[in-house]
Amino acid sequence: MVFMKSTESKSELSPGASRDRDPSGMFSNPNPGPATSRNMVVVTTSWDDGDRRDLKIAELLTLRKLPGTFYVPSGSLGNNSNMSVTDLRELANAGFEIGGHTVNHPILTDIDSGSVRREVGDCKRSLEAILGREVSSFAYPRGRFNAEVVSEVRKAGFRCARGVRMLSFACDFPPFEMPVTIQAYPHRWRDYGRNLIRRGEILALAKSAMVIGRSTNWVQLGKALFDRALQEGGAWHLLGHSWEMKDENGWRELEEMLDYVSGRDGVHYCSNGELGQLVASGPNATGRRADS
Ligand SMILES: [Zn+2]
Repeated sequence: MVFMKSTESKSELSPGASRDRDPSGMFSNPNPGPATSRNMVVVTTSWDDGDRRDLKIAELLTLRKLPGTFYVPSGSLGNNSNMSVTDLRELANAGFEIGGHTVNHPILTDIDSGSVRREVGDCKRSLEAILGREVSSFAYPRGRFNAEVVSEVRKAGFRCARGVRMLSFACDFPPFEMPVTIQAYPHRWRDYGRNLIRRGEILALAKSAMVIGRSTNWVQLGKALFDRALQEGGAWHLLGHSWEMKDENGWRELEEMLDYVSGRDGVHYCSNGELGQLVASGPNATGRRADS
């Protein structure tokens, strides 16, 4: 893969490098004022499960200077089609965030609290030993969590955690209930309805985008949602699994989506962990409500 073989300088391979310096100062300011935060648009992406095809995702993100957080079950490293320890270090050194996703990928609400503690804590310790740096973000397998699970994730030392609730632009969510906007997967528009409790107009938008697309075209919806984020502010969060990219068309759709959201003036591109920090910095950092 180009990503693995590239001899380009680290700065070119590091989509997060310049943003890490945070020229806007947004993340270094614990109380961003309304003049800088109102209608701020954030783009972040996350990729679950540690499949080796994540390296191709990283390559596509790097080409477009987009950020990515890769959530990896520590027990799967080096197994079958999964990334190796070396692959993981390479991703981290290229500027991508690595997040925890348990050791064995159990559904955490289905196991006892001692097992949850081990799955969460051992994962964090293993990844940090491999990477030599803090691993601060976590993703719940299948997006399933409850108050006890959140408590264990927090106690393990993670700073934020992502679920799978979709169609959100929120930037004031609870740090351990980070939602997403769109999944790189051909859901039917009705599937999105289950993700909406209060924002009926977003469901209408999802429905119309799907009808316009005449199919389960998630890219059409992703673009419509991004346009809305540009108009109103908020976090546009793309979630995906590289193992769900079944064919060339799937990869092409993903590239079309990434092209659409990359290189936009005034958009703050950041990792999930940085978004978590932003959320922690103020209840209305971007002026979007939690139920959006
Ligand atoms: Zn998973």
